[in-house]
Amino acid sequence: MRALVLRKMGELVLEEREIPSPGEGEVLLRVVATGICGSDIHGYTGANGRRVPGQVMGHESVGTVAALGPGVEGSGLAVGQPATFNPVVLPVEDAEAFAGREQHSPNKTVIGVAPEIPAAFADYLVVPARNIVPLPDDMPIERGALVEPLAVALHAVRRVRAAEHSRALVVGGGPIGQSVVLALRLEGVRTVFVSEVDPARRALCERLGATAMDPEAGSILAFLETHGGPVPVALDAVGISVTVADALNATEFGGSVCLVGMGARRLDLDAYRISTEERTIVGSFTYSAADFADAAALVAGGGDEIGELISREVAPEDADATFTALAGRDGTAGKVLVRFDR
Ligand SMILES: [Zn+2]
Repeated sequence: MRALVLRKMGELVLEEREIPSPGEGEVLLRVVATGICGSDIHGYTGANGRRVPGQVMGHESVGTVAALGPGVEGSGLAVGQPATFNPVVLPVEDAEAFAGREQHSPNKTVIGVAPEIPAAFADYLVVPARNIVPLPDDMPIERGALVEPLAVALHAVRRVRAAEHSRALVVGGGPIGQSVVLALRLEGVRTVFVSEVDPARRALCERLGATAMDPEAGSILAFLETHGGPVPVALDAVGISVTVADALNATEFGGSVCLVGMGARRLDLDAYRISTEERTIVGSFTYSAADFADAAALVAGGGDEIGELISREVAPEDADATFTALAGRDGTAGKVLVRFDR
């Protein structure tokens, strides 16, 4: 089989490897498509230090069940079944203690991040059967690669309790921000604003039902003053000082800001926006198993707007050039998938 190996920072090579065989409690997945995450790009360049040479990355993926390991026969999974997988893997002994908040387990491993696990930028990978999430036969299968990023977004929307409100702001309209827009809409938030400098990304967010504005053309707060005033909740899908400041400035007194973007390790904050005006900042990272399953159901049952999140699909042979282009901000508005089934 083919596997995309991070040979060194800035270089992905296509290698021929043995197809792995599923062990006890595991499933072999035939990969159809795997999405390129911002964390993969920053791992590829070395910017985030979260990927290492020799690794096969890939955590936003969809495929079909190719083989069942020992002990999986009675699980209801069948060969040929379309499926995605939840990349957050807990040791079995942690399952009960961390039920409902699996992402908090200090013993978790993340497929596609942990360097010792060959992940989904390959024709096949092995996944614990308990992390497999089946998908219906009648959906465009590549959309299954959007479940993971949508789970990230859904978790953030739930963390900041956005569904209790009718208006929200998303700061940053890149792939994370786009998923957050979609999650807000699917969770019933009627009016979603997006602040984004790139016109193609603004246009994509508008197609998802948001009202987009350019923060370089005027302040977000001034824009909101003509659109009903400050918002009760804002979600920062960038995570740098200037965007957190935008999110704090755009929320009403007592409002909440969710930090889901991871653009910077340290932030410069206007503390009085938090103390004297009683705003709350909440963090959000990955998702619970329930968030992931709910995101899968939303993708499976959702309308055609979900397909808007995919900008293009590339062949494995073109992955290295695509990573380089995305790292150089080539103007791609949405998500790029590496397609392995063609
Ligand atoms: Zn990701």
